Amino acid sequence: GPAPESSTEALQWLADRGGIAGHYINGSWGPLRDDFTTTNPATGERLAGVTNGTEEEVARAVAAARKAQPKWEKLGGQGRARILYAIARLLQKHSRLFAVMETLDNGKPIRESRDIDVPLAQRHFYYHAGMAQLMETELPDRKAIGVCGQIIPWNFPLLMLAWKIAPALAMGNSVVLKPAEYTPLTAMVFAEICTEAGVPPGVVNIVTGDGSTGAALVNSDVDKIAFTGSTEVGRIIREATAGTGKELTLELGGKSPYIVFEDADIDSAIEGLVDAIWFNQGQVCCAGSRLLVQEGIAEDFYTRLKTRMSGLRVGDPLDKCIDIGAIVHPVQLEQISKMVSDNSEGETFQTAAPSGCFFPPTLITGLHPASTLMQEEIFGPVLAATTFRTPEEAIEIANNTRYGLAASVWSENINLALDIAPKLVCGIVWINGTNMMDAAAGFGGVRESGFGREGGWEGLVAYTKPKAKPTKLKPIQA
Ligand code: NAD
Repeated sequence: GPAPESSTEALQWLADRGGIAGHYINGSWGPLRDDFTTTNPATGERLAGVTNGTEEEVARAVAAARKAQPKWEKLGGQGRARILYAIARLLQKHSRLFAVMETLDNGKPIRESRDIDVPLAQRHFYYHAGMAQLMETELPDRKAIGVCGQIIPWNFPLLMLAWKIAPALAMGNSVVLKPAEYTPLTAMVFAEICTEAGVPPGVVNIVTGDGSTGAALVNSDVDKIAFTGSTEVGRIIREATAGTGKELTLELGGKSPYIVFEDADIDSAIEGLVDAIWFNQGQVCCAGSRLLVQEGIAEDFYTRLKTRMSGLRVGDPLDKCIDIGAIVHPVQLEQISKMVSDNSEGETFQTAAPSGCFFPPTLITGLHPASTLMQEEIFGPVLAATTFRTPEEAIEIANNTRYGLAASVWSENINLALDIAPKLVCGIVWINGTNMMDAAAGFGGVRESGFGREGGWEGLVAYTKPKAKPTKLKPIQA
């Protein structure tokens, strides 16, 4: 096959910047301290030191954002669009560097970072550049919220950054973003292209660090917090912001059902599953991690699924033929392994033994819907499966969860699929498909998967607040 993608350019890029990922505040770098290390999970090698942002450093970033925001808003939709288009074009120009850096830092296959993460991030900036121009005419009675604190996870570092920064900037806000501790590197490259694109100093600030830096941002003088991450931390943040008047959106965990009826196109349903649970090593908030398959076809379906699983290639994420890369960090690997080995129910099928920071595609069948593996988010390449008899039972099992992010329904009977979809308690339902995302479509959950939408019209409105407008109504004369 083709030679693995070279890491030379990305490693040189880091070396040229002193091998430290640190803050980008008010358009300049620093401080850059080597407080902890970010590694390449596929090899265990150190990639860079990371600065753990202090309360004082966070406050400095927020102050810079506060000072820059009014002028950025006054620039107007057209002016902001010009700069957002420039960012989108620079993301495109440097797409190779972004893709390789993402794969090094996160462990995801280069095929995914190159063909999915980076292009979707570009698309997000192009889309929101267009929307910025419409703000004055389409949202005449809304204005920017002000300074937005944004906290993101490690599973899609650049893409989650784009989801946060593009709409905020389009609507005239300034931002302070904290990347996840395991994956700060593409945010650094992004900061550099902000300078190149002519983003005024202070409009985009990046503060690196761990949960303590995130907590400092939540408690700082921001007007809104947008958080993507675990349900546990989401709960802490909701409590911390309660009564402060800060706006809040939470995109949290999930345990999304993947429902296959006996009349489904089985080949397509199996291909869909590969995407639903083995894309990005299953480290996807909306992963189709619970398989519900109709009893009559279950045995045949599992047999064909196992054959397909055996064809998935696990290994060097920089190899262009690889389907499954490394798990982001040994701590995550340990959690996945423990959940699988603690389980005494059902039957486990793995395509290979786990080794290094890699975990093979795993299927566990015959699980009770109330079992731990059917209820808890594993956030790894592990599919938990059970069977159902009737559509009513499928709905009942699907909704038997504390989460509510996404769902997939597979059937050639479109009446059945359309009947089931609105009965599923979640934010997104895909019919005969999965993981379909677009900048123009709102994404988000219900229940313990959070609230608020990112992308689409709702995602834009979430970065605005109402402004008073003169009413056309005449007061009633007494
Ligand atoms: P996490 O909650 O541990 O961390 C997410 C971010 O929050 C990181 O940047 C972290 O440093 C920060 N953080 C940690 N403690 C904090 C605190 N007390 N205050 C403020 N910030 C804090 O989650 P993770 O392990 O990085 O990510 C995995 C989780 O994210 C999964 O549960 C997954 O489902 C969820 N996720 C959800 C979506 C979605 O859109 N719904 C998308 C991706 C990931």
